[in-house]
Amino acid sequence: MKLFYDLHIHSALSPCGDNDMSPMNIVNMSIIKGLDVIAITDHNSVKNCLPCLEAAKGNDIIVIPGMEIQTKEEVHLICLFRDIDCALEFGGIVDELMPDIPNKPDFFGEQLVFDINGNNVDKESRLLVSSVNMSIDKVFSTVGGLNGIVIPAHVDKRNYSIISNLGFLPVNLDIKTIELSKNCNREDFIRKNKYLENYKIITNSDAHYLGDISEPINYMKVESKDIESIFNFLNE
Ligand SMILES: [Zn+2]
Ligand SMILES: [Zn+2]
Repeated sequence: MKLFYDLHIHSALSPCGDNDMSPMNIVNMSIIKGLDVIAITDHNSVKNCLPCLEAAKGNDIIVIPGMEIQTKEEVHLICLFRDIDCALEFGGIVDELMPDIPNKPDFFGEQLVFDINGNNVDKESRLLVSSVNMSIDKVFSTVGGLNGIVIPAHVDKRNYSIISNLGFLPVNLDIKTIELSKNCNREDFIRKNKYLENYKIITNSDAHYLGDISEPINYMKVESKDIESIFNFLNE
């Protein structure tokens, strides 16, 4: 079966994420768009994952808890987890390694934290768009240890991409899937980067606004509509 996906969505917790990106709004918009599976991937935090999972309860949509971490090499990696407990554990580890730089809401935007009922109850005070004191290698080993998967984000971009910052895709890392940004032409990209053709390549929206959440364009072919099948697809 085909599952329409968008595995890179920022909530209102990301400073650059619109304040309308509440758990309920994200889930409802994803359902309206006709998506089967989404992932919540805020910068350096998993705090809005649980409310998004709760918002999806009773609906025929899968929400994967995740994070877009910024490593100390200034590389963005999408980390996806099979369940909320693993996501929260990783969130706790990242929390300890995040620099103590205060957010300036007027400049960067607010960082809204929601409770499981979908109410805005808090604001993250530390700036989430900064580099965590964690190497790329360490992210792979830690997320792998939690049975999750790491997907290098927007590898076609000039900023915060593993390829632009390192100059290559390290072969020692357990990379099965890479992400292209939504405006990147896949065929052109592969033609110019032949060595990447054997990786699984996915395209996500990297939405910071409700309207930017993907239309039902990108899909994965899986056995059934469940987390295991989705992870199998991303890991094969
Ligand atoms: Zn990014
Ligand atoms: Zn992003």
